[in-house]
Amino acid sequence: MENRPLLEKKYLLIDLDGTLTDTADIALKPMKDGQVQTDVSQIQVFQGATEFLAEAKNLGFECIIVSDSHPRYVDPIVREHFSEYCTAVLSLADKPNTLKTLNFLQEQNIDISSSTCYVIGDSWLDIELGRGLQVPTVLTAFYEARNLEIRDGIGDYVKNTKSGSTYFAQNYSSLLDILKNPLQNLLCLEAKFMGTVSCIARKPRPDDVPQGRLTAHRILARQSQGECDKYHATAKYFEFGQVARTQELLFLIRDAVMTYLELVLETQSYLWDIFTYVPDKQTTQPANKMGELFDLIVNQIRQSRPALSCISVFEWNNGVDSSTRKQSTAEDRRRFIDNNINLLDGLDLKGKSIIILDDQYTTGATADTLLEKLRAKGAKNILFIALFQLINSVDSNRDCPKCLANGLNKLLQLKINRETGVKFYSCVPPKAQGDGCGYSDSGVLCPKCSQEGMNKYMKERTNSQTGNKFYSCPKPPYGDGCGYTENIE
Ligand SMILES: [Zn+2]
Ligand SMILES: [Zn+2]
Repeated sequence: MENRPLLEKKYLLIDLDGTLTDTADIALKPMKDGQVQTDVSQIQVFQGATEFLAEAKNLGFECIIVSDSHPRYVDPIVREHFSEYCTAVLSLADKPNTLKTLNFLQEQNIDISSSTCYVIGDSWLDIELGRGLQVPTVLTAFYEARNLEIRDGIGDYVKNTKSGSTYFAQNYSSLLDILKNPLQNLLCLEAKFMGTVSCIARKPRPDDVPQGRLTAHRILARQSQGECDKYHATAKYFEFGQVARTQELLFLIRDAVMTYLELVLETQSYLWDIFTYVPDKQTTQPANKMGELFDLIVNQIRQSRPALSCISVFEWNNGVDSSTRKQSTAEDRRRFIDNNINLLDGLDLKGKSIIILDDQYTTGATADTLLEKLRAKGAKNILFIALFQLINSVDSNRDCPKCLANGLNKLLQLKINRETGVKFYSCVPPKAQGDGCGYSDSGVLCPKCSQEGMNKYMKERTNSQTGNKFYSCPKPPYGDGCGYTENIE
């Protein structure tokens, strides 16, 4: 019997332009596209890039460069600067092509599902690639503010943050810290759900300080659509919205918000007067959804910050029966909030700095509208904190088998059942705003069919008598499987 522990494999899939090299200049485009010979002397390596790769290698990471530039450009640069630290190079012109990347890794005998792997890059393409591979991602922002090539969305801050990276790094030392302490570098609420503490929040847009008055938006966790790494808090987001949610969950969220608030209140650059929240409508289920959490937080913060005024500031009009979530565009949401939420009478907000807590963040339309109302009453600095940000949807790399049989290529999307929190793959039908056929499966392969060398994905079913859930590989006429079933948990 061999008792030696297997060495854990660790990989970095790292982007080249903008992440290792300072090459956003539009003049370099013909080289990147392989139209002209690459002159390596024109390529500026970021200060600290090679040292970072050397350190990552020391930490046991194998580094693979994944670039969407042409091999005639990528190969000589890697040879000149990074060959000592890189084991492979993938030119992926159609980044984020997850399937092509997986095939490439397989050729290299790399199994990322059983190893530690990160995708690192400076654009949403890198992040979508990582999410498609279901591994953690780091969005880098090493450029100083200046005119950049727009290809790849470099510099498109909002699009890049909406892509929903696990981490954000502005320099190589924070990148290394993420590799060394992955849990402690998660967003505050995600870290709490993983049993650790972080006071990191994400900025869904840059802070704004017109006339010396700060407007800041902060996010404490990601709510994902489609494929993602294992740290996203989507299941917790749905649990928070359930009538049967537990006190334990509320305590976890309370503690994470407290950690972040304490950091904000300790920072002396802004002094905060009021802590409030976006209230629940009368019709919201669970009743008092945000109010209950707010009260839990206030019970604690009153002890450490007696000077902070923790009060209700907003109220809904009576009889509002729609919800913000049902408004499909940002403009609809803005108008809905503007028409239906009011400031309470008799508040003196002149010159006051206010922290607002809300549960969900999509485009920031709710925050913008509430901010306008507060500013109209003379409020000064405003910090809007949302628990969960809805990040972009990322397709799986699986074709819908039913559509494929009809000669159509439709990618399945990973979805989560709102009630049960269970994941499933769907060829999203029109009634759910998709253009697919409605096929769905659990994404779990039938073990019996696998033994026969066939890939069959099982369906999730519920026993109508006992309510127990099980996986099924349905036999004809219900499917083309073997009839195997397996209880869930
Ligand atoms: Zn389909
Ligand atoms: Zn089967």
